[in-house]
Amino acid sequence: MAEILKGAPVAAAINEKTSAKIAELAEKGIRPCLAVLRVGLNEADESYIRGIMKRAEALGVEAQVRALPEDAAEDEVLSLMEELNEDKNVHGVLMMRPLPKHIDEDKVRRALKPEKDMDGITDVALGGVFSGNNIGYAPCTAQSCIEILDHYGVDLKGKKVCVIGRSLVIGKPVSMMALGKNATVTICHSRTENLAETVKNADVVIAAVGKAGFVTADMLREGQKVIDVGINVNAKGKLCGDVDFAAAENIVSAVTPVPGGVGAVTTAVLMCHLVDAAGK
Ligand code: NAP
Repeated sequence: MAEILKGAPVAAAINEKTSAKIAELAEKGIRPCLAVLRVGLNEADESYIRGIMKRAEALGVEAQVRALPEDAAEDEVLSLMEELNEDKNVHGVLMMRPLPKHIDEDKVRRALKPEKDMDGITDVALGGVFSGNNIGYAPCTAQSCIEILDHYGVDLKGKKVCVIGRSLVIGKPVSMMALGKNATVTICHSRTENLAETVKNADVVIAAVGKAGFVTADMLREGQKVIDVGINVNAKGKLCGDVDFAAAENIVSAVTPVPGGVGAVTTAVLMCHLVDAAGK
């Protein structure tokens, strides 16, 4: 049976370090403050924001939700972003995405000051991930995958890593981060040929597709470590990842669960970014 790489112990270890930094900042009279910018109501955002507020309270940092209605004009969103950029009491901004379709998300994303970009959405932050120069903060979910591998002692040096998905939120940044750890990385996407063979050949598989049960038993082999980023609802209405977990746990050597895997680490990474930004 595979080792189950739970997210909770990883998050707890990150939170412990974050707490220590918060105490140091408190001595200097600094209380980190996160602004969550949201436009409209998205059910999936609700639970993420609830988790952020709960974690912020537990850590003793401030988190405020700055909400605009679904039909807010692009200018309104841009001026709120500007306000948050200029507010010296706000150290970090998390923009919930996607924005409603009538708003040019790229324009709003580019309006955010890179030093307040907590989730690696600006080109500067993404550039830092690609250059390896640590300018800005990486996308939290991508970083969470690496935090899990680090926590459980999975050394990527020289290993074949297969990332399924090439989004700017997960696939591309996590690929660059794995490359930075000296892995040999293959990125698969919807036009990839022989995907099953590529996945099976990998030592570490990171699945970020967004399709329930996409990674099936025939793509897996003994000894692999599998990070399942997907958050999907299956035919039975149950939350599940991109990997056929029941099959995977009988084949591979380690796998993250969904829920309770990558998703459980994201908020801890976000708070770690916030505290770092507040200290600068
Ligand atoms: P996305 O932007 O939709 O990207 C999905 C990627 O999967 C794309 O690169 C796409 O390829 C690829 N893909 C789709 N169908 C494929 C196929 N048949 N074969 C191979 N590749 C295929 O999604 P995302 O934002 O990266 O999110 C991915 C998953 O992670 C979703 O389930 C999302 O809910 C979940 N997620 C989890 C967390 C967390 O905290 N755990 C956070 C954010 C997102 P193309 O580029 O060729 O279209």
